[in-house]
Amino acid sequence: MKWKKYLLPASIEEALEMLAEYQGQARVIAGGTDLIPQLKKRERKVECLVDISRLDELKGIELQGDVIRVGAGVTHQHLSSSDLIREKAAALAEGASAVGSPQIRYMGTVGGNIVNAQPAADTAIPLTALDAQAEIVGSQGTRLELLESLYVRPGESTVNASAEILVALRFRALDGNEGSSFGRLAKRRALSLPILNAAVVTTLNGDGTAFEDVRLALGPVALTPFRARKAEEALRGKAVEGEAVERALEVAAQEAQPRSNPLRASREYREEMVKVLLRRALERAVRAAEG
Ligand SMILES: Cc1cc2nc3c(=O)[nH]c(=O)nc-3n(C[C@H](O)[C@H](O)[C@H](O)COP(=O)(O)OP(=O)(O)OC[C@H]3O[C@@H](n4cnc5c(N)ncnc54)[C@H](O)[C@@H]3O)c2cc1C
Repeated sequence: MKWKKYLLPASIEEALEMLAEYQGQARVIAGGTDLIPQLKKRERKVECLVDISRLDELKGIELQGDVIRVGAGVTHQHLSSSDLIREKAAALAEGASAVGSPQIRYMGTVGGNIVNAQPAADTAIPLTALDAQAEIVGSQGTRLELLESLYVRPGESTVNASAEILVALRFRALDGNEGSSFGRLAKRRALSLPILNAAVVTTLNGDGTAFEDVRLALGPVALTPFRARKAEEALRGKAVEGEAVERALEVAAQEAQPRSNPLRASREYREEMVKVLLRRALERAVRAAEG
């Protein structure tokens, strides 16, 4: 895992200049919890690492009007303990608290979790349900992209970490009649990749008896984090419990396309568990919205 230079920029601007200088041979490193193992296994090669982990500009969690802006350099530990996130985007706090182990949560960042582009990354799933947007800077300026459209395939996002920096993630803070929740199934509670994870965001009608809107995100049931849009459609306008929910869970299990993995679980098991995990997450999100 050889690299010739390890650079510590003092600002985002300087980091971009450093990346530009190496013309594709340098790469951003944040917590290094994904990248260092990849370099060790020679899955990636770089001449130079540009370490953005000391940039305070990337470490804030702020409420701007009704939008929450989470800096890409925010660690999972910070996310899961933030009062603002716990109150206004609980699914994200829950997802972050499920990552790896305390050591990984103190080092790993939400930006790295997104750019590493795994279909069941534990912050990507709640952020997908929250309909987050990504703020990315490069030599051409800043672009805002829907998180969902950032994913290409497992391990590949549209953020070119040799020339661009994911700066922040933005999403709407949840209101009084809205609730969110995250669920995860894994072989162990710590240091175990998810067999399945799910995040739900619900908006209830005035008297809290029906779904005005629902967003359901699942992983790993496709090559990228997945929105179960047909199941969402089946829930819109329907009572928060009863037959419509049962039908929607069946729809979700049908539209999800999990794969068998000899180390984790079979496709059939995962399909069944989609219903179980989503049902629990839905119930918790509804309770939070009624809250
Ligand atoms: C033992 C272990 C257990 C783990 N368990 C889990 C788990 O349970 N759930 C889970 O979701 N993940 C898990 N991970 C994966 C990893 O910890 C997370 O994905 C973490 O959030 C990555 O963040 P990082 O800051 O360490 O990224 P890095 O390793 O620094 O970077 C990852 C990738 O993103 C790029 N990058 C990082 N930040 C930026 C940025 N701001 N702009 C542009 N590009 C950027 C890098 O170039 C690299 O390609 C685990 C990893 C380990 C080693």
